[in-house]
Parts: sequence; structure tokens; C-alpha cells
Amino acid sequence: MRKLLLQGLLKAPLTEAAPEDAAVEKLAAELKAAARARLGRSLSIREVDAGSCNGCELEIHALGNAFYDLERFGLHVVASPRHADVLLVTGPVAKNMAEALKRTYDATPSPKWVVAAGDCAINGGIFAGSSACAGGVEAIVPVDLRIPGCPPTPVALLSGLLALLRAGKG
Ligand code: SF4
Repeated sequence: MRKLLLQGLLKAPLTEAAPEDAAVEKLAAELKAAARARLGRSLSIREVDAGSCNGCELEIHALGNAFYDLERFGLHVVASPRHADVLLVTGPVAKNMAEALKRTYDATPSPKWVVAAGDCAINGGIFAGSSACAGGVEAIVPVDLRIPGCPPTPVALLSGLLALLRAGKG
């Protein structure tokens, strides 16, 4: 036990330092400015897992960690579609989730954007053709932006949302 404590004190921590990333800093500033210009406030996002393997969720959750720090991008994750500007949908749409996705879309006030995040959300990905899969998000609700990747990286997600704010409807 004493040996373990001593090792813990003397050895370097196992976690890696966050990398310096000028590109992420630049993206943060651009997203914040775009959200301000477009909405005059933060962009509110409701994440919808329509049948994902959770790989996409891990990348979306990474946006909230100390390195990416979602809030400084002018983005805010909300608990209800009634408070959302964007539905960020992951996964192929499982047949059992199709009705829930449709209802979530209907509950989101207009104008609203729908983002299909990840290859599965775009066209069913590796689950396409499965008897449990209703297809990509577009098979159920209109999609405004597609962010490819399996899973898409946090930077790809942020770049996609920036494109949405700059070019989107509403
Ligand atoms: S795109 Fe990849 S990571 Fe995302 S739900 Fe599909 S299989 Fe999982």
C-alpha cells in the first residue's frame, strides 16, 4: 500500500495535457460571433439519439469537456426540444425511434434546423438494410445539414454547426 502511494506521488499523471490548438480557438471565436450575429444569443441544441451505437455521442459529449468547452462556442445543450434551435440527430433511425423523432421534430419551434450527425444519421450507415432500421434521419424528418464521419470528430461537428449558422434558413 505504501509503495502504491509513493508511486502515485512520484509518477507523472496518466492523463495527457490538452494540446495547444489554434484551429479550435479560431473556430470557437467564429462560432460565437456567428451565433450572436444570427440569433443574438447562444445556439440551443437538443441532441436526439435515434438509434446510435453511442460512438457519435462520445464525440458530442467531448464537446463539453475542458478542452472544447462547448459553452464558449456560443452553443448550449437543452433538455427539451421546445427550447431548441437545432436538433442534432445521431444514429440510424431505429424503427422504434421513428415516431419519437417525428414527435420531437414537431415539438421544436420554427424556424428550426435538423442536423444529421454521422454516417448512420445520413443514410443508415452500417445499419442500412437492417430490419430494425428505418433509414437515415431524412427518411423521417427534413434535414438541413449532414456531418459525415463514423463518428464525426468534435471539430467536424463544430465546423458543421458554423456552416449551418452562416448559411442556414430562418
Ligand atoms: S456513425 Fe459510426 S459511431 Fe456514429 S452511430 Fe453510426 S456506427 Fe456509431
